[in-house]
Formats: sequence, structure tokens, C-alpha cells
Amino acid sequence: MCSLKNRVLTNIAFCFFFSFLYAFSQPYVIKHLNFIEDLELIIGSAAKLPARWTGIQNVDKDIPILILAGHADSQGIAGAGTPGEAVDKYGLNPMNPDITDELFWNLKLQASIVQLGKKRGLDIRSYDPGIRNIDDANDSRTNWSVGKEFAKKGGYPIEIHFDSYGKHGIGAGLIPPFFEVPNTIDESIARKFGRFPILFRGGLGAPRRQIRILEIGKLEGFLEKKLRNIKTRQKTINFISHEIVQALLSGINRQVIFNPTLDDDDTFLPAIYL
Ligand SMILES: [Zn+2]
Repeated sequence: MCSLKNRVLTNIAFCFFFSFLYAFSQPYVIKHLNFIEDLELIIGSAAKLPARWTGIQNVDKDIPILILAGHADSQGIAGAGTPGEAVDKYGLNPMNPDITDELFWNLKLQASIVQLGKKRGLDIRSYDPGIRNIDDANDSRTNWSVGKEFAKKGGYPIEIHFDSYGKHGIGAGLIPPFFEVPNTIDESIARKFGRFPILFRGGLGAPRRQIRILEIGKLEGFLEKKLRNIKTRQKTINFISHEIVQALLSGINRQVIFNPTLDDDDTFLPAIYL
């Protein structure tokens, strides 16, 4: 009896052991263990443009943050944002026929970032002009006007976007402010999402008003499928907003370890290699 009982227990133990091994050999478990690769997997590759800036300017611990949804005030013919690959290339229905899919997702993410940011103790808010087509960019109700005023008062305004699909887009990354020295929050976000040159397209309207632009990723492929699939939608939005809030917190707390890339001329090798 005793030996039979021992054999049964040994078999159960083996069973647990191999189940454990099997589970950890599965891609979904590995994916969850490796957070950074997960972000790259979801948002796609970062912009591969030459950008040499580093955000070293310190910020106040209680710096107010404003999250703007790109194209919320410009649903006209120009500047409406990308319709995304699903609609434009594959003819799927837009998420909301009144606005582009980019704005649809920008708004969802904006709400999620602010909600999570507040939970994590940030002084964070959003602005939505409500009116979807304001012709004059300098109208006091546009994203740009509100963001510009916010920056003037010492705040950190950032406008979130999804980039165009395929060859129409560039990829993820942060476009820093045009006239201000990039700060530690800019650096923290750029390290996670990638960076665009300060002079990108001659200095866009938002960065000229000290509003940062964060391109989260191209609205295509894996990312767009994850967003459109009702089963993975909220998880994907939560995951991206978590990554953004984490970058904001790290930038404010200066948990950024500086390791700037050296130019070839700056690099020297120990004598042993010469
Ligand atoms: Zn956009």
C-alpha cells in the first residue's frame, strides 16, 4: 500500500513538473515575462530617423501634464489623421463613421492615460475641443492653442497620435518641442518609444507651440488587429497607456540612466585593442 501511494505521489509530482515546463515553453508566457519586447511587438518598430537630441532639462516633481488627442479639432479634409490600414487598404468599416480611426483610438487612449495617470498620482488632465472641425488653427479652442497656453504656464502638453500605415508612415517616436530644451520626460518617453529629429518636417505646428507629439505606432497590422478585436481591445489600450504613464513617472522622478550614444570620433579603445 505504502509503495503504491509513493508511486502515485511521484507520478503526480512528475505531472506537475512537466506541466510547469510546458507552460513556460509557450510563447504567451514568455511574452508576458518580457515586457519591453512586448511593447515593440505591439506598436511595431520605432522611427529610424537621425535624431541626436537628449532630454536633460529637469522638471518639477509636480509638473502638470496635459494629454491631447491628435486631430480632435480637425476632422476636415486636411489633417484629419490616418484612416488606418483596415479601412483604407482592406475596406473595413471605420470604427465611427464621423471621425477617422486614428482619432477614434487617440480619444480612447487619451482617456485611459489620464485615468491611469491620476491613479498613479500624476497631476494629469485631458482636453477635448468637442467641436471636431475648427478651421483656424489659432482659434482659442484648438488643441494647439490650449496646449500652447498650458506650456507657457510651465506644464507639459503632449499630443498622442497613431502614424499612417505602410510607406505612408514612419513609426513610433517622440517629436520634442521646437524652442525648448527637451526635458527628462521627453527623454524617458523617447527611450521607450523612439525619437524623431527636432526639425522633423521643418518643425510641425504642435512642437512650434512646445507641444510634444507622441507617435505611438503605425495604425496597421498586429497593433490595429489588437485594437479592433473586442477581446483584446481594452487590454491593448491599457497596456499602451500603462507604458506611457510609466515613462511619464520615470521622467519626472529622473529614473533615467543616461548613456548617450557616442559618435565614432568620441569612441576610443583601450590600448590592448589598438
Ligand atoms: Zn496623427
